[in-house]
Amino acid sequence: MTSSAVQDQNNTKLEQLIAVLKNKRSIWVLTGAGISAPSGIPTYRNDKGEWKSANPIQHNDFIQHESYRQRYWARSMVGWKLTGKAKPNATHDALTKLQLHERISQIVTQNVDGLHRTAGSKGVIDLHGRLAEIRCLSCKEIFSRKSYQSRLIKINTELDQFHFKILPDGDANVEDFEMSKINIPPCNNCGGILMPNVVFFGGVVPKQRVEKAYETLANSDCLLVIGSSLNVFSGFRFPRWASQNGIPIYAVNQGDMRGQELIDIVVTEPCEEVLPKIVDEII
Ligand SMILES: [Zn+2]
Repeated sequence: MTSSAVQDQNNTKLEQLIAVLKNKRSIWVLTGAGISAPSGIPTYRNDKGEWKSANPIQHNDFIQHESYRQRYWARSMVGWKLTGKAKPNATHDALTKLQLHERISQIVTQNVDGLHRTAGSKGVIDLHGRLAEIRCLSCKEIFSRKSYQSRLIKINTELDQFHFKILPDGDANVEDFEMSKINIPPCNNCGGILMPNVVFFGGVVPKQRVEKAYETLANSDCLLVIGSSLNVFSGFRFPRWASQNGIPIYAVNQGDMRGQELIDIVVTEPCEEVLPKIVDEII
């Protein structure tokens, strides 16, 4: 196909999507890493759904091994300096606007950056938790990541001056640093092990989040996937369920998607460009 033919096809898809969404009163939205990329948070996978870099940390490794926790906090301490300051972009803002016009039944995100909230969206289900919080594995107390950052920096001054490259989920490449030198501050309450309040790979999404998501999906007109390849099952289960229950599925996503055959219309243009257009047309 020539590039103008591809462009015509894209425009047609976009027009089709706008046309169907005009009639939808309760749109259930699922967002993934693709929507946060324009905010400077890199994605884990390329357009083909392949890993871009080394696999992220696994839940059991973090729980069981001090050395994994040292590596995690080293990267997180450096990475947080950027991700902690990331700002919402046009996609987050467009969704907040759509929600204000009472056209969204629920926003569910696979992202842990909290940018939907920062953009003013309400009642967001953070499927995989939020990096802005940490929790104690022993006493379960929740603390702010921001205050933990000061504790980390205070006792890891050498790492603080180390050069870095930013990676997904507040991670950074600090491989050349001697990881055994990393000091990890314990829980202020009980001295227990602290972990970010997020679901790592191999971890379990809390049941009530999943139940609430299904409950709202059951009462929605359609499911709209934005910026997710649906490669991770915790997100993919919702389109699969929607498809089994006759709820139409639409997507704005660049690159290959898992379960593409279940999706009625896919717009393959950058979400930060098309979402504001879509929202302005349908409200
Ligand atoms: Zn504790």
